[in-house]
Amino acid sequence: VEQSYVMIKPDGVQRGLVGEIITRFEKKGFVLKGLKLFQCPQELAEEHYKDLKSKSFFPKLIEYITSGPVVCMAWEGVGVVLAARKLIGSTNPLQAEPGTIRGDLAVQTGRNVIHGSDSPDNGQREIGLWFNEVELC
Ligand code: ATP
Ligand code: MG
Repeated sequence: VEQSYVMIKPDGVQRGLVGEIITRFEKKGFVLKGLKLFQCPQELAEEHYKDLKSKSFFPKLIEYITSGPVVCMAWEGVGVVLAARKLIGSTNPLQAEPGTIRGDLAVQTGRNVIHGSDSPDNGQREIGLWFNEVELC
């Protein structure tokens, strides 16, 4: 079954949005397979976002993701990767539709509250990167 790595970024945790975000995924009907609060080390943030290494915003992105604890989640279900991206909304929260997490809860691209894997392959890759096997059900 398809799985997506979804992560509430430090601003989402700090702003108290964890419960609301988990509720949206639960209500949609996906199955939670892993969940933890975690202070991300720099090297892991860089590995996670390695495809963006050449971007000018990369150092700021790493600073952002490591600025406080994140909530790491593995969600499972048919079509979960694309569906999670739809629940999350566009990268720029000002372009994200109302009703999406970013559309309802954020205004800045550099503080956009949540991550979701962009393909099933990356879902597997990222879950392997952020979780130990014993942490997954
Ligand atoms: P994510 O991978 O975090 O789910 P995404 O897939 O919507 O987001 P990506 O293009 O993968 O978008 O960018 C990863 C993250 O890098 C974005 O979520 C955002 O936090 C940050 N980012 C992307 N573009 C910019 C930008 N132009 N300026 C600042 N930060 C950016
Ligand atoms: Mg992405």
